[in-house]
Amino acid sequence: MHAVLTALTDELKRLKAAGVRTVSVSDESLGALHRMAERRRTATGGRPVPVEKKSPEPVVTSVPATAAAPLSSLPSPPVVNLSSGDKRARWTALRERVLGDEVCRAHVRPGKQVVFGVGSIDAKVFYCGEAPGADEETQGEPFVGPAGQLLNKMIQAMGLRREDVYIGNIMNWRPEMPTPFGNRPPTAEEIAYCLPFLRAQIEVVDPALIVALGATAAKGLFGADSFKSLGEIRGRWKQFAGKPVMVTYHPSYLLHNDTRRAKRAVWEDLLKVMEQAGLPISDKQRAYFL
Ligand code: URA
Repeated sequence: MHAVLTALTDELKRLKAAGVRTVSVSDESLGALHRMAERRRTATGGRPVPVEKKSPEPVVTSVPATAAAPLSSLPSPPVVNLSSGDKRARWTALRERVLGDEVCRAHVRPGKQVVFGVGSIDAKVFYCGEAPGADEETQGEPFVGPAGQLLNKMIQAMGLRREDVYIGNIMNWRPEMPTPFGNRPPTAEEIAYCLPFLRAQIEVVDPALIVALGATAAKGLFGADSFKSLGEIRGRWKQFAGKPVMVTYHPSYLLHNDTRRAKRAVWEDLLKVMEQAGLPISDKQRAYFL
């Protein structure tokens, strides 16, 4: 039961990092949470479960009970030297390097996969997400779950196809969880380990610009202390690895904030991306979600 509560807490933290401020919970889920709390109360002999006064958010103390390596065992970030050859050869060699990386593999549970970027190696637009989730580690491809379906719609609204752009993540493995469901944001150490793989992908693809999806992606690119809330940097151009970066909300944010206002905010960021990338913009597109 503790594992379930930890997973729930982690998922809420991850959503918060993605910019989500409200979460709707069904009556069934509320009932299940209430029953869990009741069972905890009964287990403590009716005494209230002690509440940590100082910390407003529950602190994760358990190390995921998976077959994967413990979080603190990460070596220093890898040095990634790109191979010689043409663009396709360099990308293929880099992909093999990452998929075969022993540290990445050690963090993936049996039957699951290390996830490398996909899309056009000649893409102008490079979308950078956070980390694979359950669907992604199962299929070995970034953004194939519900957030991915929404990202596909965003790409299409820009007049592009998924295969025209490049989609990668800050992380190449799904941060381990004590349960088969739920996600947690990657730690600074995990991000630091995977970042050279992202840099190398940016170097090979050489896009015109990068779209950072959500707070974790932005923290990975600009540093954990570079901003307090996503609102500070969203919709503004920044730089990473010599490329312009537009920071916007993660598609998960829109899945939980299905409002015209939220959609318009993201769409305005994407209109800036289209302008910067020299993509045609119709009057109809300019007026989406107004
Ligand atoms: N969210 C991400 O940030 N990346 C994925 O690949 C899937 C969901």
